[in-house]
Amino acid sequence: MRRFFLLLTAVLLCLNLNSSAKAAVKIPSEIRVGILLKVSTVDFQIPKGGKLVSAAGKILWDAVGAAKTLRLTAKNGTVSTPNGNLSDCFTVTSGADNSGIIWVNGRQYRGKILLRSAGKVMNVINVLDLEQYLRGVLPKEVHPDWPLESLKAQAVAARSYTLANLNKHAGAKFDLCAGTHCQVYGGKSAEHSRTNKAVEETAGTVATYNGMAIAALYHASSGGHTECSSNVWDWDVPYLRGVADLDPSPHSYWYKVMSASEMEEAFRRNGYPLGRITQIIPSKTGTSGRIASCMLIGEHGQVELTGEKVRTVLSLRSTFFTIEWEQTPPSRGPLAIPTGMEDLASALSASASSSASAAAASTSQLSPAQPPIGIWAPGYQPSQWVIRGRGWGHGVGMSQWGAMAMAERGHTFDEILKYYYQGITIESKNR
Ligand SMILES: [Zn+2]
Repeated sequence: MRRFFLLLTAVLLCLNLNSSAKAAVKIPSEIRVGILLKVSTVDFQIPKGGKLVSAAGKILWDAVGAAKTLRLTAKNGTVSTPNGNLSDCFTVTSGADNSGIIWVNGRQYRGKILLRSAGKVMNVINVLDLEQYLRGVLPKEVHPDWPLESLKAQAVAARSYTLANLNKHAGAKFDLCAGTHCQVYGGKSAEHSRTNKAVEETAGTVATYNGMAIAALYHASSGGHTECSSNVWDWDVPYLRGVADLDPSPHSYWYKVMSASEMEEAFRRNGYPLGRITQIIPSKTGTSGRIASCMLIGEHGQVELTGEKVRTVLSLRSTFFTIEWEQTPPSRGPLAIPTGMEDLASALSASASSSASAAAASTSQLSPAQPPIGIWAPGYQPSQWVIRGRGWGHGVGMSQWGAMAMAERGHTFDEILKYYYQGITIESKNR
């Protein structure tokens, strides 16, 4: 099986072996994670030995004898304690060495908690050691019962992604948020012994390219092939190239059915009032076959959108899809021909008429003879769009289900990482 993957690597597209001067990866002493954003109140419990300290350094609560529970409220551009003490930012510590556990809205967190004013609301920020942070990330991003080597690959990927994205939310004075925008993080409450073990066994291990921590993007399921970053975003990264992939996931194939009116409404709601959609034509596809960009033609105009935009508008699992329709005979007369589309409509008329007739005479089942992508039959309307797709996620970087499949076949975490992130180095970093 290893030869199989080496062969797949050999057919890698878009390989770039660019090299340049090396820079050192630095492991910061603390990571700042935005766990609750723009909230008005927060309930938390200071553990025994913990403190509540104002921005001026004044100790307002000192839980010497026992844990204390209290509620802080955002008020008039500051944060307020129950007895009216105000500060732009309160710090909650969890003991002399921050080894205790702080409860925030019923969830446990390691390290410190900052309650920072943000106008009329506040942001709650967890400040903690990188390795402790990763313990709260892994179980939210991967199945804890998967093979250990795939969990270790995920640990190194998450560690590298974190280091490459420090200060991502610099405007709000923290590094990463706790949602899918950055990495999902559930604090100590989310931890699991197997994912903790994966973090511990790879402690300080980072994937690098040209000496820099890589932006180790990952996704749930590739549908059989990952994608070059440049085909998903306007971002060409030498180590984020499309590779063939095993996908044993339940998401490897999926489909979705939308009525013509649902399709029209989805685009109208997102700022594209095209009227009844008559054609959806991929204008660019990636190395995997994912739709990089797509032309939409409707009764009232046309627009070209990225595959990711279409995915968002239609709430699809991936951009790795084909789209077809069933057609029905006109009930309100022929569709208006969009301005500028008269020639195309005329040219398509002859080729589409046979499939349109077949569709009109058919049952509700799709006919295999129908064109795979929208060929508009004048006089007929699409009544139901059928979208058949593969995989779940953007498809760039490591496929989590694919990593699991590699680990099941005996591959180590570094082999997995080097397969999905081409040309990288695995390094051990000490502070
Ligand atoms: Zn974020």
